[in-house]
Amino acid sequence: MNKKYIQGRIMIIGAGGVATVAAHKCAQIPEVFKEIMVASRTVYKCEAIRNDISQRYGREIETAQVDADNIPELSALIRKFQPDLVLNLALPYQDLHIMDACLKTGVHYIDTANYEPLDVAHFEYSWQWAYQEKFRQKGLMAVLGSGFDPGVTNVFTAYAQKHLFDEIHYLDILDCNAGSHGHAFATNFNPEINIREVTQVVRHWENGTWVETPAIIENGCIHFNFDYPVAGLQDSYLLYHEELESLALNIRGLKRARFWMTFSENYLNHLRVLMNVGMTRIDEVDYEGQKIVPIRFLKALLPEPASLGTNYSGETVIGNIMTGIKDKKTITRYIYNVCDHEEAFRETGTQAIAYTTGVPAMIGAMMMLTGVWKGAGVFNIEQLDPDNFMEALNHYGLPWQVVDHPGVPDRV
Ligand code: NDP
Repeated sequence: MNKKYIQGRIMIIGAGGVATVAAHKCAQIPEVFKEIMVASRTVYKCEAIRNDISQRYGREIETAQVDADNIPELSALIRKFQPDLVLNLALPYQDLHIMDACLKTGVHYIDTANYEPLDVAHFEYSWQWAYQEKFRQKGLMAVLGSGFDPGVTNVFTAYAQKHLFDEIHYLDILDCNAGSHGHAFATNFNPEINIREVTQVVRHWENGTWVETPAIIENGCIHFNFDYPVAGLQDSYLLYHEELESLALNIRGLKRARFWMTFSENYLNHLRVLMNVGMTRIDEVDYEGQKIVPIRFLKALLPEPASLGTNYSGETVIGNIMTGIKDKKTITRYIYNVCDHEEAFRETGTQAIAYTTGVPAMIGAMMMLTGVWKGAGVFNIEQLDPDNFMEALNHYGLPWQVVDHPGVPDRV
C-alpha cells in the first residue's frame, strides 16, 4: 500500500484463535500498530500470545485480564491503556457491552461477529444497528463484521458492485474448508457459537423476502456438490449467515442472496448424535446438584480451535459468485481466496479459519487507524470503500482472484 501511515494504539479483546492471528498481524506492522494490548478473561492466554510475538518479532505488547461483560471494569482498562481503537475478538455475547464501553470512553470499535444473546440461539444486526445514533452523536465509528464471512465476503460484494457490475442480481457465497485436523470431531472456531449457528433453521434472501428451509442436520436440507478451485468437488449446504442480512439491505438490485458451507458426513453425524442426546442444549440442567449448560460442558471437552493448527493440512476456499448486468450484458464472476492451513500455522501458530478471520480483522483496524475509513455511526463493512481493503488482502496474506464462472444453479 502506498498510503502514508498514521500510527495508532489498538486494544484487542479476546485471546482465542482469531485474536492470536490478529495480534500477530498487528505486531508485524509497527508502522501502523504502534502499541498493542491483548486483554481477555483468561490472562495466561494473553501472555502466551505476548510471548510468541516477542519471540517471533522481538516486539513487546501489553496484556491484561478483563471481563468484557463488566462495563465499568472494561472502561477503566480502556482509560488506562488509551487505545485509538478497540478490536473485539471475544464472543458475540460481549458485543453490546464492549460497544457501551467504547461509547463511555470515546473510542472507535470494530468486530467480526454480530451480537447474540446468551440465552437465545439467534443472531441479527438489529441490536447493534440500534447504536447508530449513539455512535453518530459521539463522532465515533463502529465497524461491524470485519472477519472473512462476514467481512471479506461483504467487501468482495462491494468491490464487485463498484468495479465489475452495474447491478448485481444473484449472490452466492461459498465457504469451503477442505482441510483435515485429524480429530474425530472439532469445530474450527468457538464450539458454542459454531454449533448454535449451524443448527438453526436455514434462511436465504429471494425476491424481497426470507425463504426458510430445513437446518443442515434435518431431512430435506438443501445441498449440492460444488467444484471448488484447488479443493475440487465438495458437498455444500445452504446455511443462514449473518452477512446476508446487511447485504440484502445495502446491495442495490439484489434479487437473491444465498450462503453455502461445506460439511463432511462425519461432522454432521456427530452433530446429529450430540443434538439427539441433548449435548447442544443452551439452557441449564441439573447435574448432581449443580447447574450446567450442556453446550458449555461440550465446549470444555472439545479441542480448543486455536490448538487445531498443529496437524491441520489442506485449504480453505471462500468466495462469492455473482451474476448481474454490466454494459447491458449478463455476466457471472467468481471472486475467491485460497488459504492453506499449514502456511497459516507456520506464520501465526493457528489454523486457516482463525487466519482468514484474524487477517481481515487486522486490515479493518488498519483502515480505521490510517483514516481510510472514516465516519460517525455504525457501519457494515460493505458500506465502506473496498479498494484499499482489497489491496491489503493481497499484501497481508489473503490474495484473491476474479474469474468468469457459469454460476450456481437456481435449484440444486
Ligand atoms: P475463542 O473461543 O477461541 O476465543 C474467544 C476469546 O474471547 C477467548 O479468549 C475468551 O476467553 C474470550 N472471552 C470470552 N468471554 C469473555 C469476556 N466476558 N471477557 C473477556 N474475554 C472473553 O473464539 P474464536 O477466536 O474462534 O472467535 C472469536 C470471534 O471471532 C467470535 O466472535 C467468532 O464468532 C468470530 N468469528 C468470526 C468469523 C468471521 O469470518 N467473521 C469466523 C470465525 C470466528 P477464555 O479464554 O477465558 O474463554
